[in-house]
Amino acid sequence: MAYEYDEENVFAKILRGEIPNDTVMETEHTLAFRDIRPQAPVHVLVIPKGKYVNFDHFAAEASAEELADFMRVVGEVARQMGVAPGEGGGGYRTISNAGVHGVQEVPHFHLHILGGRRLGRMLPAS
Ligand code: AMP
Repeated sequence: MAYEYDEENVFAKILRGEIPNDTVMETEHTLAFRDIRPQAPVHVLVIPKGKYVNFDHFAAEASAEELADFMRVVGEVARQMGVAPGEGGGGYRTISNAGVHGVQEVPHFHLHILGGRRLGRMLPAS
């Protein structure tokens, strides 16, 4: 796969402990922490600890264990944040930006979990 991982991206620095983060959950393969510029009352980022640039890189090259662990953490964070609809929460949205059209800023795969208010339409009409 034609992806080169930038070791100096901000999430790599978080994973190395070089800059702080507000951790929500951590497992062997996955870290979840609050977004530094929240766009909703709940705004958590979930990242794999492995060096994956974006969603398709992770989907193609991560082990089954990493993939399963990541997905379980996403679900658990939603429940922990009180937004999981199955548990009486108001719901949430997951977003993963990739590449130029996706307007991805940090080149380490991450999934945004947003909730705590009505989020409006998925994309602005254009
Ligand atoms: P994206 O456009 O999907 O790459 O979004 C990157 C996200 O990372 C943005 O929502 C930023 O607010 C967030 N972010 C950047 N630096 C940090 C940091 N040090 N701690 C937590 N979140 C961060």
